[in-house]
Parts: sequence; C-alpha cells; structure tokens
Amino acid sequence: HQLADESVSSETLLQSPLQLQQGHNLPLPPQLYGAQRRNSAGLDLAEAETRDTLGDALTTLPVVVVQMDEAGKVEPAMQRARAAFPAWAARPVDERAAMLQAAAERLELGLPRFAALLVQEARKCWPDAIAEVRETIDFLRYYANEALRLQAPQAMPGPTGERNTLQLRARGVWVAISPWNFPLAIFTGQIAAALVTGNCVVAKPAEQTPRVATEMLSLLHAAGVPTSVLQMLHGTGETVGAALVAHPGVDGVVFTGSTSVAKGIQRALAARDGPIVPLIAETGGINAMLVDASALPEQVADAVLQSAFRSAGQRCSALRLLCLHEGIAARVLELVVGAASELRAGDPADFATDVGPLIDSEAFINVKRHIGRLRERGRVLLAPSVPAQPHHLVAAHVFEISNVADATHEIFGPVLQVVRWKGDPAAVIDAINALGYGLTLGIHTRIDRRAAALAARSRAGNVYVNRNMIGAVVGVQPFGGEALSGTGPKAGGPHYLLRFCSEQVVTINT
Ligand code: GLU
Repeated sequence: HQLADESVSSETLLQSPLQLQQGHNLPLPPQLYGAQRRNSAGLDLAEAETRDTLGDALTTLPVVVVQMDEAGKVEPAMQRARAAFPAWAARPVDERAAMLQAAAERLELGLPRFAALLVQEARKCWPDAIAEVRETIDFLRYYANEALRLQAPQAMPGPTGERNTLQLRARGVWVAISPWNFPLAIFTGQIAAALVTGNCVVAKPAEQTPRVATEMLSLLHAAGVPTSVLQMLHGTGETVGAALVAHPGVDGVVFTGSTSVAKGIQRALAARDGPIVPLIAETGGINAMLVDASALPEQVADAVLQSAFRSAGQRCSALRLLCLHEGIAARVLELVVGAASELRAGDPADFATDVGPLIDSEAFINVKRHIGRLRERGRVLLAPSVPAQPHHLVAAHVFEISNVADATHEIFGPVLQVVRWKGDPAAVIDAINALGYGLTLGIHTRIDRRAAALAARSRAGNVYVNRNMIGAVVGVQPFGGEALSGTGPKAGGPHYLLRFCSEQVVTINT
C-alpha cells in the first residue's frame, strides 16, 4: 500500500543528522513538539477543510486482512532479530535517531490517514485520534533527541594514571507488547525507545488494533529501520505474547496493559531459561481526584468531565473516583451531573460525538457488569440508557459510593464513582494509596501548601493540580506510576531510555 511503497532515499537519511544540529538543537524546544500544538479539545477541527480531509481519509481506507495467529513465527523471528542485533547496535546513534526523525516527518504528512485509521479501528473520536498521532510524533522526536543526549561516553573521575569511561550499551532483543487504547502512540513509543538505543524489537500489538500497527510498522521500515531489526507478530497475549516472553533469547520486555498480565509476564520471565532481564510495565489505576471546599466548582466540573469521560474513560490515566469535600459536593455534583447528561454518546466518526464506543463486546460486557453492581450498591446520580448497537456504546454514568475503599475495581469505561469526605484530606489520600495503585491523582484546592503536601503524600506517579488529569505530554509530563500501576521508568521522560540499556565501565591504566 501507499506507505510501504515509499522508500527512503539515502539522501533523506543523510540529511537528518544535519537537521538535528541545525534546526532541532538539543533539547528540542517544546513548542516544536506536535502535542504542544494541539489544543485539548482538538479545536483545529473547526476548519471545514480539515474535516473534509479527515472525512476523505476515513472513506478511502482500503480493507486489509491481517494474519492473526503467528505463534509459530516466534522462533524464526527471534533468530532473525538476534542475528541482526550486533550490526544494528554498532551503528552510530545519530543514524538511528535520524530514522526516528524521518518517521516523525512521514507521520506528520500522514496525519489524516493515521487519524482515520484510529477512528476506524480503535473507535476513537477525532480529537483523540488527532492527539494520538501528534503524541506519536512527539515520542519519535523526543527519544531521538534523548538518545543523542545519553549515548555519549561519560568520563568518570579517577586517580591520575587511570581513565574511566561509562558507556551505555544496547541490551539485545526486546519484546514490545502494546495496548489497543493507544495503538499508535504507545506501540510506537515502546519500539522507538528500544530501537534508538540499539536494540532489536519483536512487537506484539493488541489483537484489537492490528491495522494501525501494521501501517506504522511499514512507515518505520520506510524511514530506514531494517526489517530484521524491527519485526511484528500478530496474535493474542495467551498465544503469541506468552511464546515471546518465554523465549530464552529475549533481553527485555516493555509492556502496557493490565496489572494481572504484567505480573504474569514477570513470573514467566523469572521461570524461563536465559538471562535476568528487565520488565518495563505500565498498567492501570483506580485514579482519584481530591476536591476540597476552597476549589472552584466550575473548574472542577470541567476537569472531571475531561478526565472521566473523554476517550469514553478508556485511558489508564482516567478519573475513576471523585472525592468531594461535603461543603462543596452538592454544587460540584449539580454541575458534573448536569454537564455529563449533555454528553453525546455515538459513532466515533461523527464530529458531534463526545463519548465514543467501547473497544469491543468483551469490554462492553465488563463495564455493564460493573454498572449493574454499582446500581445495587451505590446511589445512582446519572445512568442514561443509549442504544448499545452497533457501536458498543455506554453513556456517561455517575454513582455515589460510601467509602474510598468501596472502589474495588478499575472500570475501564465512562463510569465515575463519587465519594464525600470531611475532616483531614491527608486521610483521604491515605485511603486512595491503600487501594494499591499509584498512577494519576487530581487535586483541586486554592490552598497551595495543601496541594504540595497532598501531592507529596500520594504515591501517584502523575499528580495534576487544578486541571484535568489526562493527556500527559511527552517530554513535559513524563507518564507512569508505581505499585500496582507499573514499574517505571516513565514514558516520555528523561530516564526512560536508560532502562533499555546496560552500562559498561572501561578502566584504562594510562
Ligand atoms: N498517557 C495517557 C494519558 O496521559 C494514558 C496512557 C494509557 O492510557 O495507557 O492520558
């Protein structure tokens, strides 16, 4: 197809390091990142011309059939990757960084097509789809620049007559297992980080979104990444994922998905033959927002709507549990429930849709089961019914529950639980911490010292004060959590690439 057919001339590759030095000096000014140019509501869609371009891109996507069970290809793929590793690791880092930059440029040009693919396959609404393409561009550029920053040998102090040099080195072959909710940005971010540090990759994209992954893989190959260095196998976690992780030739696994699968991978890595290897896992959270009586109700309501219902709640950063001080609860709930009831659930391709579909019937059944449980055990504040078909739609729901501890599950959909509190906000943070997760936290207060103290007390990896709590920007809000929410290091942050590397110190007696 179109992208795979475009080949990169050697000129393009040669030009890119030059551009890095001229226009993209390190660190790349944040205003040049794609995501910095987005506005959170995707308002540039107001341009009728843009709508036409996007609409055209959606209607002209050809049907592609993807071979799904490729467990039988694990062994040959691993052998190929291992054979390709030494030469790839030996290439200068600027060549690998230049390929990421070339991929970013191609993706900028292909934005309408990739956004359309995300709408079609991942069932994303247009603003989310566009934001995801831009985030992907950010990942490519950020990791390209980070690799250049980190890979220079570092002279260590030492006695006279001795020279000590610390050097980062690629680990080998990484398995990258990515989720359907960010099938372009997280898929590409994992791969880009591993590749640019000199590793080979065998990627297993989510089985719900094979096409987005296939097209991005072609784009990366067209940008210069050899096909032996970056390979992809389709299939389920139980088949292909399990076979990859059990392979003794794997030197690292980067995974985004559920906590239980992350733990399963950790167990499988420990049980197999082969070296002790790192796992980078980014999982879920029961993310809370704490609102005290000094907060601005309108600001809270806006932040809640974005955080709980955008992307139909299918972000691991999404707000699940709103903790309202009883002095402000009635006013905030009036605004939140009123505005949430106006949100329109519908076809993701429709520009008027606010809450798009859930990804598939399994997700739909799961969310519906939780809604049923909350109807019985909580107080219903908003539970509209919408026709579920043909899109697996669930409208925005709001339930009040009695205690923080009653929020026992991460409900991956547009379902908000609310709890009232009084007394010491630190005790609320302790109760949130006790849920075991540590991904995102929202705080709304006009008392600055309180915000700082509560953030410090929280174990959440990303804390947002007086704003929404989704849409972490690459290089600006490095993203990821701790405890049941993952291992770190944070994606899109200055320490991420380090985990893809081993370190060697050479000591020379001069
Ligand atoms: N990075 C995304 C955000 O900040 C969430 C990623 C995820 O859902 O895995 O909203």
